[in-house]
Amino acid sequence: MSIFFLLRRLICWFRGKSVHLRTLVVEEIPDEPNERIIYIYRSGGTAWGLGFLCPCGCEEVIELNLISQTRPCWKIQIRWDTTPTIHPSVWRTVGCRSHFWIRDGIISWVK
Ligand SMILES: [Zn+2]
Repeated sequence: MSIFFLLRRLICWFRGKSVHLRTLVVEEIPDEPNERIIYIYRSGGTAWGLGFLCPCGCEEVIELNLISQTRPCWKIQIRWDTTPTIHPSVWRTVGCRSHFWIRDGIISWVK
């Protein structure tokens, strides 16, 4: 494991600790998404997906499906103060390969 990798992990961990995510219902993700917001895509009264910036800082947009008939599929619970819990974990298989949970708006990284 290189020192660069370790440093990046540390930065990830630190960013995760400092960011408290909120949710916002939209029709589509804005051109310049806010790194602290999980955008919930809704059309016709149905929430069908999520979009948000990867919390590692790589600036890629992660999009998750909420429609249970389609796999893979995630579930989101939103607290009264709009902080989200997402299940299961998010694991990018391309790019930065980030793997993390979002619980009560807090990122917790999978080692
Ligand atoms: Zn990333």
